Amino acid sequence: QYAESTHGFVGADLESLARESAMNALRRIRPELDLESEEIDADVLDSLEVSERDFKEALKGIQPSAMREVFVEVPDVTWNDVGGLGDTKEQLRETIQWPLDYPEVFEQMDMQAAKGVLMYGPPGTGKTLLAKAVANEAQSNFISIKGPELLNKYVGESEKGVREVFEKARSNAPTVIFFDEIDSIAGERGQRQGDSGVGERVVSQLLTELDGLEELEDVVVIATTNRPDLIDSALLRPGRLDRHVHVPVPDEDARKAIFDVHTRNKPLAESVDLEWLAAETEGYVGADIEAVCREASMAASREFINSVDPEEMDDTIGNVRIGKQHFEHALEEVNPSVTPDTREQYEELEEEFQQAE
Ligand code: ADP
Repeated sequence: QYAESTHGFVGADLESLARESAMNALRRIRPELDLESEEIDADVLDSLEVSERDFKEALKGIQPSAMREVFVEVPDVTWNDVGGLGDTKEQLRETIQWPLDYPEVFEQMDMQAAKGVLMYGPPGTGKTLLAKAVANEAQSNFISIKGPELLNKYVGESEKGVREVFEKARSNAPTVIFFDEIDSIAGERGQRQGDSGVGERVVSQLLTELDGLEELEDVVVIATTNRPDLIDSALLRPGRLDRHVHVPVPDEDARKAIFDVHTRNKPLAESVDLEWLAAETEGYVGADIEAVCREASMAASREFINSVDPEEMDDTIGNVRIGKQHFEHALEEVNPSVTPDTREQYEELEEEFQQAE
């Protein structure tokens, strides 16, 4: 029973909880004792029994660490680390970076700064990367919350979690709040994960926070989803997550640019041609391309380590190259996440969403 009521508590929280419960019990049986300074007799301690009430009282005063720790970071991702997605970058730069960098222009032009952006597209296409890059380029802090995490980590307290995130964001402004996989908490009724009314409460808290954000308060929300069609429409209304940015599956040019990002610091053999790689990788998203580059590097390393005398490693390492054959091997190992079928599904629901906008 105690375990159930202590979701999100780490060991140290449980220790405090146990100590506080015992103190409550002591106060109850010996109200006259000054617990701060007096020695407690052994026989008192022996007769001490912690009741459920002592425990419940203690529980009220202790917040689980998981709740207290809303991490604020300053990402180090730049626009240069994001391959392709030129239009998307431009859109984000104008909606998020400009109001933060040039508030006077927005004021003069009587333009409303965006409070919220919904980025939608299949997993692994670079949504997180883009959000971090825009935060970094706008010299903003970054708070990242995964939808499912908000439900699991803050069980029974998810709305409070949302409130704390916004509080933390305001006190660290300028801040980009990143809600990843928002559909898991803000899907339409009945579509949410293990819904028991929690989703409902979280959505209404999110709405309250978004509506409460003063314009140009330097807090912007970026939410992501691969199911834009499932998002509670109240969240998408003007003044809320009203800017919608599509992050598509990369085309051939974009794939080449992504290969370029992920091979930039690698020793490539002349046989490796990025255009060839881009042509061979239909259906691969950014995350897959990163995996291909990692696999190819691993294949080349494996070959080198297994073939060289460890004594001579230092002398020869400078000559090691990742060759075309290593990439061919990697392409066999890593499958594209988007098949023609899933691509069609994505395109259909994205089109529906765009029409409904
Ligand atoms: P999403 O948030 O859309 O699921 P991520 O941004 O988390 O995708 O991408 C996962 C990883 O894949 C990134 O850390 C990055 O290494 C790689 N990646 C994805 N898209 C791109 C891109 N457009 N350019 C460079 N790397 C990318």
